[in-house]
Amino acid sequence: MNNVTLPNLSRRRFLASAGLSAAAVIIAPRLVFAQERGIVPTMIHEASQAKIEVHSLRRDISVLEGSGGNIAVLTGKDGKLLIDSGFTVSKPRLKAALDSLSSDPITQLINTHWHTDHTDGNAWVHAAGAAITGHTNTKKHLSTSTRVEGWHWTFPPAPAGALPATIFEDEHRVHHNDTNIALKYYGPAHTDSDTSVVFEQANVIHVGDTWWNGIYPFIDYSTGGSIDGMIQASDRNLKVVSNDTTIIPGHGPVGNKAALSEFRDMLAEIRHNVAELKKQGKSLNETIAAKPTAKYDAKFGQFLITPAFFTTLVYSGVYLQIANLRRREEGTWPLTQSTPLEA
Ligand SMILES: [Zn+2]
Repeated sequence: MNNVTLPNLSRRRFLASAGLSAAAVIIAPRLVFAQERGIVPTMIHEASQAKIEVHSLRRDISVLEGSGGNIAVLTGKDGKLLIDSGFTVSKPRLKAALDSLSSDPITQLINTHWHTDHTDGNAWVHAAGAAITGHTNTKKHLSTSTRVEGWHWTFPPAPAGALPATIFEDEHRVHHNDTNIALKYYGPAHTDSDTSVVFEQANVIHVGDTWWNGIYPFIDYSTGGSIDGMIQASDRNLKVVSNDTTIIPGHGPVGNKAALSEFRDMLAEIRHNVAELKKQGKSLNETIAAKPTAKYDAKFGQFLITPAFFTTLVYSGVYLQIANLRRREEGTWPLTQSTPLEA
């Protein structure tokens, strides 16, 4: 194989094994920056630099990429309805992108979950005229100081205007711009606040961060996410879409059922590999060294969530499940959601 075609990761590993610091190499600046500064500052920095890309889908529905999570926009006489609000730092560029779609004011905002890369812009979008709708747990996490261990970051309470004014537990329906919009809670998946949003006439669904198209996902164990929840959410997504459905992921390009299916199989296979290693008594470092993600790294390991980090996230969830099985055998089942991960 020609060196030029080697994926970044392989070159990084080669250089690391040759005793060179990855930081000295220019090949993967995003990953190097993320390792040095942390994931949240990296996401904000990227949003501050990024051009907002506008992709029009079907029936007056578009997607804006470049400010954290993917933002969907429905334009029309009732005003713009947004799904997720990205980072505040992108406000001028998002406003320009929204203005390029139509002159309708922003009147509605739906949050797919509570994470900052999907809700940081809530305050300005609300101030611009949007009524906000989200799951009960989205409001709960935004209302209080919330720590995400996997990001080593504690978020302060959001301002009152940034909170969803309309909340729901399981399902909610909105009729806007002659479009039926169906919201449905996943149960614990990537967090405990994930919601799918279906534009029924257009056959378009925004699945939030239950799908990262072509990249390893983050899983937020601090607020109820788990690898098994991610797999269950993927199974539900596959059940409700058809080959003709346009699927908006939380991160990565808009995709279809085939790509979603590939993501689901990746999650399940890596979960299996990591569980096997853990059952053998392997430590986290030994499990990472065994490269349980190797088959998928060239494709999925090129974004913020590195193969080692994704392995760590899966290892945490498998551990929790093994601990749960043991507790069930011991008769201490059922667990509450607040049952901590064992050290
Ligand atoms: Zn998220």
